[in-house]
Amino acid sequence: MARPRKPSTTRDLRTGTPVWLADGAAAPRAQAVPDGLAVDVAIIGGGISGALIADALLQAGRGVAVFDRRGLVAGSTPASTALLQFEIDQPLTILSRKIGRERAARAWWRSAAAVDQLRARVADLDLRCGMRERDTIYLPGNVLNATALREEAEARARIGLRSRHVDRAALHALCGIERPGAIISHGAAEADPARLTRGLWRSAQARGAQLFAPVDIADIAPRRGGLRLATAQGSTFRARAVVHATGYEVSPALRPRGHSIISTWALATRPQPDAIWPGRSLIWEAADPYLYIRSTPDGRIILGGEDEEFADAERRDRLIPRKVARLQAKAARLMPWVDWTPDFTWAGCFGQSSTGLPAIGAVPDMPGCYAALGYGGNGITFSMIAAQMISRALQGLADPDADIFGFG
Ligand SMILES: Cc1cc2nc3c(=O)[nH]c(=O)nc-3n(C[C@H](O)[C@H](O)[C@H](O)COP(=O)(O)OP(=O)(O)OC[C@H]3O[C@@H](n4cnc5c(N)ncnc54)[C@H](O)[C@@H]3O)c2cc1C
Repeated sequence: MARPRKPSTTRDLRTGTPVWLADGAAAPRAQAVPDGLAVDVAIIGGGISGALIADALLQAGRGVAVFDRRGLVAGSTPASTALLQFEIDQPLTILSRKIGRERAARAWWRSAAAVDQLRARVADLDLRCGMRERDTIYLPGNVLNATALREEAEARARIGLRSRHVDRAALHALCGIERPGAIISHGAAEADPARLTRGLWRSAQARGAQLFAPVDIADIAPRRGGLRLATAQGSTFRARAVVHATGYEVSPALRPRGHSIISTWALATRPQPDAIWPGRSLIWEAADPYLYIRSTPDGRIILGGEDEEFADAERRDRLIPRKVARLQAKAARLMPWVDWTPDFTWAGCFGQSSTGLPAIGAVPDMPGCYAALGYGGNGITFSMIAAQMISRALQGLADPDADIFGFG
């Protein structure tokens, strides 16, 4: 008989108060695991990935139960700054060199479709989560200088993406920023990630999903006709299939080559509606480390980035004052009219991959197990793709992009 496997590690995922948690709103009520439980699909993880996967599986007529060791919407998701972009961390020109032009084009178009579908689904379910369509403004930096940024715009235009290059004067007229030019793209979005995810869980629960928390899944072992899961609290139950939606607490046995956990920092200012630029575009830089900026419906400005390639939580937290100061200084050069004094600061783990792409699908050597590792700055966009791919896989259907996003 195959040995049980641990589904995840344990990490200190975040520190500080993300702006979305200031309202103190509660997640939907979850319960303890009853004796003799048997479920169709067990989802491990109550964040945005688990919630979107649950929604897609319920749409496909499957039974769903979610298990979270912390509570629903208590992991990385409420720390997200929730810029919902289709622009993958690796520019199209660079990704094309890494994985080929045809596959890079498919990866970018699949991401664009995913953001559209996420917005449409939120509208279908009437979730009140501040979901708004936004343009993005992509500024030159040390990854793409002004010339390379023009080439990036041309590459995007060749595959018909919704991006165009603007020069210095047009950029300044758009948002007041002084840079040699930028790429403007349509079809991104923003949301409150905590309200979005709580809303998805409430909707899933109303449609029959079972919510179990706090429940720590300690190991998984194959059994005839499915899997046997054991909780750290001492109970066991059966599932026909298991989905690992454990965010950055991914077991080393599952983590694909090129994926790593790093650290990131963010802040939100006081409300200052008069300082918000027209159109409220999402702003980010082709730089490493990068900087990104968005607004909230009540006029706060969120600023984040300064990523560093280590995962140690104590070091990450010690650096909060220094990183916040650096973010403020960089942002003040870009938008000197904004008061960058933070009302909220927070820091967290972040996942990255060498291609900027996630790993999604059937876990090698673990029959009946699927994983959604949405690494990269488009974590939530990738959660949507994960929901589609895993739902298809569980229906025995092939996904046309499994060769790009597939696990392995
Ligand atoms: C500061 C910051 C800014 C970000 N900005 C953006 C952005 O602008 N746009 C974007 O798209 N993405 C962004 N991201 C990334 C995005 O937030 C993540 O991709 C996303 O939240 C991951 O969701 P998840 O559901 O996979 O993970 P989580 O929300 O972490 O959920 C996973 C859950 O699994 C549970 N779990 C783990 N192991 C077990 C177990 N063994 N048993 C039971 N439960 C378990 C955990 O308790 C956790 O609650 C950002 C992240 C951070 C930290």
